[in-house]
Amino acid sequence: MSATMTMKERLAIGRVRMTELDAVVRSRNFEEVNRGLSREEAECEANRCIQCTHRPCVDGCPVGVSIPEFLERLAAGDLAGSARILTGDNALPAVCGRVCPQETQCEARCVRGVKGEPVAIGYLERFVADWAMAHADELGRPQLPASTGRRVAVVGCGPAGLTAAGELARRGHGVTIFEALHDTGGVLRYGIPEFRLPKEIIDREVARLLELGVAVECNVVIGKTLTIAQLKSAFDALFVANGAGLPMMLNIPGENLKGVYSANEYLTRVNLMGAGRDSQSTTPILLGRNVAVIGGGNTAMDCVRTARRLGAERAMIVYRRSEAEMPARVEEIKHAKEEGVEFLVLNAPLEIVGDGEGWASFLRCQRMELGPPDDSGRRRPVPVEGAEYDLPADVVVNAVGTRANPLLTATAPDLDLNRWGNIESDERGATSIPGVYAGGDIVRGGSTVILAMGDGKRAAAAIHDYLTGGGAA
Ligand code: FAD
Ligand code: SF4
Ligand code: SF4
Repeated sequence: MSATMTMKERLAIGRVRMTELDAVVRSRNFEEVNRGLSREEAECEANRCIQCTHRPCVDGCPVGVSIPEFLERLAAGDLAGSARILTGDNALPAVCGRVCPQETQCEARCVRGVKGEPVAIGYLERFVADWAMAHADELGRPQLPASTGRRVAVVGCGPAGLTAAGELARRGHGVTIFEALHDTGGVLRYGIPEFRLPKEIIDREVARLLELGVAVECNVVIGKTLTIAQLKSAFDALFVANGAGLPMMLNIPGENLKGVYSANEYLTRVNLMGAGRDSQSTTPILLGRNVAVIGGGNTAMDCVRTARRLGAERAMIVYRRSEAEMPARVEEIKHAKEEGVEFLVLNAPLEIVGDGEGWASFLRCQRMELGPPDDSGRRRPVPVEGAEYDLPADVVVNAVGTRANPLLTATAPDLDLNRWGNIESDERGATSIPGVYAGGDIVRGGSTVILAMGDGKRAAAAIHDYLTGGGAA
């Protein structure tokens, strides 16, 4: 906090706005939409923090970032000090500063939000993390303790696995991550598009973690190449964080037509394999004129905005509830609209109709209206009688959700699962098998980056206790 600034002056500062790429330009390329803050903007915004002694914002952060402390150093112009605090608490700060749902996490608890707008904690996290990446030499490398000689296997190289791996390496344990795909990052790389999270950011944050001595073995599918039992006999403890990437079906006729994709397949083709955007890519993708994306979450927004960038004339969200019920972040919806995405809300898909030669041609829709609330408290959509129509759609993307893939768990009969196939664990990640911990989407179902990271951080502390006799398995 600037020593010369009074409380009144700090309270008078308005929340910073982030510059964005022009909507028309960006809807035809994959460049990052949010452009970041300048140093002046960041220091000014950090001065909006009034350094509350009870730190409510920290309680809203699943990895417990020391928010007032990193903001105080930033406001004082001590970027190295700010960066050291931030990177000590958060394994992937440049990622979180971009994709964390700050508005429902730390910023939702910020005192400044009671009578105005909260401090832009996410923007400031991004600024400091980007500065830290650009000044890595200045910051030096973290000092690691002597090796404990204990070895931990981590299954899955997404945010949960990466966080746990970093935390365990910092405690002196030897860590190997086993990843099914040919690259690191999990959903960060194959799911979230570059216009929200550039690959360079993932590369750099992962490289910083690997510098701690973490080994990664890609192209290893646990449950197929190796089993949990084999890992268990080769390592002292396990952390299972293989996500929940199995698409849920729409269960409507026409799902097997050509031109119908699951969101994961669609995004993986474009983001991981470069289909449709890299002339060297050998992975094909159908570039539809009329692309209908079914769903209302972040994944649906990522698909529809991707379709727009791949040249779709009409890129449409088809969602059976109203916009108020959409689970996607408000910013995502705003950006999608600015980019020309059409929102067909209160529309339920009934059937994907083919052209007679096996290709998708229309999406048959049912108009809906809102009825009384259901078990989730949201108003239930009910069909409007006789209101069916055909929407032209040569590409249909199913983005209604994913669930746990049984490939790994099917080969570990001692691992207790819930009725949806997610691994059961206690609040520190311990599963029914001693020494085997789990976290992230495989435990929670589809969730968020920061909750997965919080699980990884907690489980790493529990594994450390388990390995050093400091707690029960
Ligand atoms: P994942 O990120 O899924 O990583 C699991 C890893 O395990 C993957 O790399 C996978 O290949 C690997 N794996 C799977 N099976 C095996 C196996 N048998 N053996 C070895 N490895 C295996 N959250 C947000 O907070 N903000 C957002 O903006 C946001 N946008 C999203 C957009 C999309 C398109 C999607 C799909 C999700 C989004 N989420 C977002 C949710 C968030 O990405 C996930 O909650 C988070 O990535 C879960 O982390 P995880 O480490 O548990 O799993
Ligand atoms: Fe907020 Fe997410 Fe950063 Fe935590 S990691 S401080 S919740 S933006
Ligand atoms: Fe600063 Fe807001 Fe946290 Fe208070 S609640 S310390 S104002 S960020």
